[in-house]
Amino acid sequence: MEITWNLEHTYQQLPSALFSPIHPTPVKSPQLVLLNQRLAQDLGLDLEKHDDQTLSALFSGNQVPQDAQPMAQAYAGHQFGQFTMLGDGRAILLGEKVTPEGVHYDIQLKGSGRTPYSRGGDGRAHLSAMLREYLISEAMHYLGIPTSRSLAVVITGEPVYREKVRHGAILTRVAQSHLRVGTFEYARNFHEGQYLKDLLQYSIARHYPELEKAENQALSFFEAVMNRQLDLIIQWMRVGFIHGVMNTDNMSIPGETIDYGPCAFMNAYDPMTVFSSIDSQGRYAYGNQPFVAHWNLGCLASALLPEIAPKTEDALKIARESIDRFPAAYETRWLEMMGQKLGIEKTKPSDKALVDDLLHWMKSNQADYTNTFLYLRRNKFPEESIYDKPDFKGWLILWKDRISADWKKAQELMDQNNPAFIPRNHLVEEALDAASNNGDMKPFQELLSVLQKPYADVQGLEKYQEVPVEVDKGYQTFCGT
Ligand code: AMP
Ligand code: MG
Repeated sequence: MEITWNLEHTYQQLPSALFSPIHPTPVKSPQLVLLNQRLAQDLGLDLEKHDDQTLSALFSGNQVPQDAQPMAQAYAGHQFGQFTMLGDGRAILLGEKVTPEGVHYDIQLKGSGRTPYSRGGDGRAHLSAMLREYLISEAMHYLGIPTSRSLAVVITGEPVYREKVRHGAILTRVAQSHLRVGTFEYARNFHEGQYLKDLLQYSIARHYPELEKAENQALSFFEAVMNRQLDLIIQWMRVGFIHGVMNTDNMSIPGETIDYGPCAFMNAYDPMTVFSSIDSQGRYAYGNQPFVAHWNLGCLASALLPEIAPKTEDALKIARESIDRFPAAYETRWLEMMGQKLGIEKTKPSDKALVDDLLHWMKSNQADYTNTFLYLRRNKFPEESIYDKPDFKGWLILWKDRISADWKKAQELMDQNNPAFIPRNHLVEEALDAASNNGDMKPFQELLSVLQKPYADVQGLEKYQEVPVEVDKGYQTFCGT
């Protein structure tokens, strides 16, 4: 049967060095394990008419839609501070789906075979890692945080060799685009000036059309990307999300959370929390995320210099003025965000001490970040616990005093900003284990359905809120490569 998705391919109007046409490598016996029907509908993809066999063929890349023009994108990136040539080594973009509202979304297969950018890799992905990306990205979406989405997971029927033999799988993900800071680094470092100009024009047209008439487009573009990244990191900090590999190739130009790898949520509050097995120095620890975002934006500014001003000296000066505003802007927005978690509508500089005292107390007492805010939201605390101690009670008096003028508004803000449910590491692992070792998708589906309503503090789901003692001791996450 002929299948078309009404795909567009605007990215392929860019110079051909920015991508490589390549087809997915067919897999042995694809089998659909997850399909996000709601997302498919939002995208205007009519998938309900297909049987499982067709869907499995489509989402494994064994059959691409008639109007797909599969390709891998070229990009570079700073990985743990080191500049490297990268590119989609195991991802293939089928095309851009234009929604009924006219927004372009990339539809990309991840784990679909080798590409010219695979280097030594096999181009494949394994089931547990793809289910993890599906679960966490969907959780982020329902938490209200900009993110790539997950449309489908297919098992390939082929083994993937990692530290042990695993089930091969392919994830279909959807993003506003896969333009990265690393795409700009690639254009700047490996090609003539025109590539950078073209990429900049393309990115503005696709993601920041309001800048088309800006006086200094490159500078305005840089500032707009910086703003979106700022907002994004603030949201990560709000829910305790740790991306785990904030390399510049994983930082998206439209400002979405992308390239989920060893990401995880923090339980006990500690800014140095890091779970990724390869991040031994804690470069990408929870509390370092704003500093890394700032550093990564420096790489973007540096790539854009020739477009900011003809003379490097001038360009540097202009760019520096912008980027130097990041730390203060972050502090302001961070305090606003933490204020909202505490039910404060308009924070004052003096609120910083209230927030800092709470965080300091949480760290000293290894208090769970999410649950502490949930208890505040409920105004109800577990008995005979750290919340019974005089130091916490002393803080509570100050806090209540601060919000007493408008408790109703405070309650509303706290309900909106403090999730009752986040993907708890031990539950994520249980769900992934059941799925990949026993073919049992039930725990995964149950967890996913709880995470689709993260702010509804309903009773009877305490299992998804409790955190076993020392559950994070030695907990490690992996890149899934
Ligand atoms: P990531 O950590 O997923 O952002 O990947 C970093 C880089 O490694 C990207 O260029 C990926 O395409 C590439 N890569 C990761 N895993 C594989 C693999 N199994 N085969 C080929 N390339 C890979
Ligand atoms: Mg990446």
